[in-house]
Amino acid sequence: MSGTSTRDTTPGTVASNGEAPASGGATPSGNGPEPAAPASDGATIRAEAARLGSMLSEIAKIGADPEGGVSRLGFTPAERDAHDLVGGWLRDLGLEVRVDAIGNTIAERPGTADGTPAIGIGSHLDSVPHGCRYDGIVGVVGAVETVRLLTENGIDTAHPLRVVIFAGEEGARFGEPCIGSKIVTGELTERDLSTMRDAAGVTLDEALRRISFDPRKVGGARWRRDAWAAFLELHIEQGRVLEVGGTPVGLVDVVSGSTRLRLEVSGRADHSGGTPMAIRADALAAAAEIITHAEALARDPRNRGARLTVGRLEVHPNSITTIPGRVRLTVDVRDVDSDRQRALAAAVVRHATELADRRGVQLAAERIADTSPVVLPIWVRQLVAEASEALGHRYRVMTSGAGHDAQVVNALMPAGIVFVPSKDGVSHVPEEWTSASDIARGVDVLYEAMLRLDRMLAAVGADS
Ligand SMILES: [Zn+2]
Repeated sequence: MSGTSTRDTTPGTVASNGEAPASGGATPSGNGPEPAAPASDGATIRAEAARLGSMLSEIAKIGADPEGGVSRLGFTPAERDAHDLVGGWLRDLGLEVRVDAIGNTIAERPGTADGTPAIGIGSHLDSVPHGCRYDGIVGVVGAVETVRLLTENGIDTAHPLRVVIFAGEEGARFGEPCIGSKIVTGELTERDLSTMRDAAGVTLDEALRRISFDPRKVGGARWRRDAWAAFLELHIEQGRVLEVGGTPVGLVDVVSGSTRLRLEVSGRADHSGGTPMAIRADALAAAAEIITHAEALARDPRNRGARLTVGRLEVHPNSITTIPGRVRLTVDVRDVDSDRQRALAAAVVRHATELADRRGVQLAAERIADTSPVVLPIWVRQLVAEASEALGHRYRVMTSGAGHDAQVVNALMPAGIVFVPSKDGVSHVPEEWTSASDIARGVDVLYEAMLRLDRMLAAVGADS
């Protein structure tokens, strides 16, 4: 695999208007389901920005921080409240709603053809601590709006449409991202629940019990491959590629893999006044050199597209008058090219070892996680591209540095990810923002792509 997140491979066509079509006379109905009458002129009713904005505001009240932002961590009562709220909206829209054993909410709108696998749409409602109202939520309100548009436009799909709100997507609490989706695909199992702990030492199985779930039943949440036809996830970009290019829609081709390392540098703790510079074994000074060297490796043009981050540093004894004797740090290497991802991680360790030798300190390196990049199927992306073109929305094909539930369920069924712009590229902070009109454009693409997927797969099914 190759490629970087900044290339502009496939610009779509620009339609004459380039803007979201008018929404055909439906009134903003807040969070309640008030299906408008089908447009009398036969025009398709499109997503309504005001309605999307109002759903986002309702959800943002749950787990709202007094100082702004949202803290709605996975497997907490706040996350459950958000699922209950949206589950209620989906029920009011006539869907059958259930919650599985890990806390994923799954709502089904039946299809017209008997025994056909479902097309899935959805995302997540949990947030990082002091996060915001868009990451994940956009894909959930987009799925609700998609259901509403089907009703308002009087459309029945051949395949059942299944809305999925995944539980615990953010890795913020237990270190493991996409827990709800990894349970349904079998990438995580019941046995993993007791091995994951949050910062307070609470295991995931205990966290589940505290919100009235039975961790022993988690195995029953597993999905059958033949029950699914495809999955589409709408999400905010969490970067600035779309905004900089003035492009409203992003289609993800590859999701980065990541290799995570833990390095421990051991020197000698000593008195800061009594120890001459020449005879020190300063673990932090060595770590600093290791970090800047790792950054330089990642910035080397040959590694263009790689992202390397040292996000955690523990200094011992962390005292103003003691030379640091031991430093622990983490390195997160992400890339869409799996060979380069692992080669860069190996180079970081090799250079760190050399630096440690030269400085007379010890280095221990451990690989704590390693996931490969995921290439999403091109035919799904092509279909979404055609939907975007038909609507007159410019798009670009791009990589995703962040992981998403759709990439996890891609192990079971073909999946696609649609991005909408993030203001200034910021995410996981209270300043995260995407305009309601940008979200509406993304929902229109999701809706149109879902309909094309339904027709295309129905035709394939009829052929075979
Ligand atoms: Zn997300």
